[in-house]
Amino acid sequence: MLRSFISLLIIYLMATNFLAGTDSKAIEPDLVIVNANIHTMDQQAPTAEAVAVLGNRIVAVGSDNDIRKLAGRNTRIIDAKKQLVLPGFNDSHVHFMSGGFQLSSVDLRDANSPEEFSQRIKQFAEKVNAGRWITGGDWDHERWPKAQLPTRQLIDAYTQGTPVFVNRLDGHMGLANSLALRLAGVTKDTPDPPGGIIVRDPQTGEPTGILKDAAQNFVWKVIPAASFDEKLAAARAATNHAASVGVTSVQDMSAGTDVGVYQTLLDRGELKTRIYAVAPLPAWERLGRTGVRAHFGSAMLRVGGLKGFADGSLGSTTALFYDPYLDAPNTSGIATDEMYPEGAMLARVRDADRAGLHVMIHAIGDRANDLILSIYEQVIRENGDRDRRFRIEHAQHLRPQDIARFARDKVIASMQPYHAIDDGRWAEKRIGKERAKTTYAFRSLLDSGATLAFGTDWTVAPLNPMLSVYAAATRRTLDDKNPDGWIAEQKISVEEAVRAYTVGSAFAEFQEKVKGTITPGKLADLVILSRDIFTIDPNEIENVRVVLTIMDGRVVYEVK
Ligand SMILES: [Zn+2]
Repeated sequence: MLRSFISLLIIYLMATNFLAGTDSKAIEPDLVIVNANIHTMDQQAPTAEAVAVLGNRIVAVGSDNDIRKLAGRNTRIIDAKKQLVLPGFNDSHVHFMSGGFQLSSVDLRDANSPEEFSQRIKQFAEKVNAGRWITGGDWDHERWPKAQLPTRQLIDAYTQGTPVFVNRLDGHMGLANSLALRLAGVTKDTPDPPGGIIVRDPQTGEPTGILKDAAQNFVWKVIPAASFDEKLAAARAATNHAASVGVTSVQDMSAGTDVGVYQTLLDRGELKTRIYAVAPLPAWERLGRTGVRAHFGSAMLRVGGLKGFADGSLGSTTALFYDPYLDAPNTSGIATDEMYPEGAMLARVRDADRAGLHVMIHAIGDRANDLILSIYEQVIRENGDRDRRFRIEHAQHLRPQDIARFARDKVIASMQPYHAIDDGRWAEKRIGKERAKTTYAFRSLLDSGATLAFGTDWTVAPLNPMLSVYAAATRRTLDDKNPDGWIAEQKISVEEAVRAYTVGSAFAEFQEKVKGTITPGKLADLVILSRDIFTIDPNEIENVRVVLTIMDGRVVYEVK
């Protein structure tokens, strides 16, 4: 109370002082939210009843009475009707453009059988012009009765004039139809590329259409690039969708060449999401040469982050482990092409770090995590101590002895709780009970003092943060076979999950001074939720909706 009074006083003094010498009265806020149940995520003043916004900043947080007094004739007053107000969600790991394209492509995510999969592609192919590629999809064969990978034969009959390359939801493999394979020049005689696998029919040796990890490049190379206008439409769809689910900031892990698309949206006043546009690590020199360093830019659009890959994914059995997969004993996963030749990743991280850039690397299997932590440790030794905020993206399967290294080395664990309730359906058949114990180890990581940053990896998982908070707090797998939680000892509280999704992800992009909490002086990014997720049964959180989203002081989404 005292603190909020003081901050009000400061704001008032600032306002009157600022206007001394002009003929106006005190500055009125543009907008106030009153009658609210505010959880600020600011440990100094965790709750409040009302908040005032001037321009793009939060200017006062306090009691209903105090804030109502600030409102003037031109202030918009939003009555929150006692609903929960939180800082806008900050998704620390998305693929924003693919998300936008997916919103307008074939949706295979919840196709529950090979038949449904092929029917949906058939129907979609009937709508697109011949010759135009069908991509995206986000299928998941783990939902299908025998969990067998699809083959090109499933879709060839419906897509003779239409090249198809639809990806599994993790993006680590895709299915090409015969036309796409022909255009890409992939035949029986094409060898597997480093870091990739062309899946072949065991009888004939012919490619089945499934291309894993680096083998996907054969096809990607021949898919014509989207035009600037198509990209703009996709980015617009993505930012509108983000606003509708209360996501006000994203950290785009594959923004390599799309910064200009976001800039155009920003110039047109259509960007409703703050974007940290992260570029591919192998291209670090492009940024390095400009002299740009970590998190450079405006509060709306920043660059300076670099994302690398150490391995594949669990779903594609390409995540790199020490021990083989139980259901594929001939492999323990593969390191990506970025890990070759030996020493290349270390050199790249060292040089990019020395240039002041911000390095984050995808690591899923326990061996990949160990390798990347060791590379980070080596670089810290060589380049010396500084506030560099190395991150591991996913940090999915950790050996128990590696967990404490995150806090010790100040490596941020950028994790996606929804994957736990998704992969949790079948992960144990692949890696067994023992390795599963330290999978998505939210509790152990937090207890060890590590910083967690939460996100979704959209389009791998839905962008809606409520599903991720629900997942972290319940660990109830999607098949509902673990009603009390899969590896229940790794659950965390709703409060901790929201913290990782706001404060944690702001820290993970060097933005904790301007966002992540509802605090006077910070950017006005706020959401109102339909229910109080801190008091309802956590099992109901997945049904909670966003009522209103404010980003940069503007209402960017509102249920009417
Ligand atoms: Zn990703």
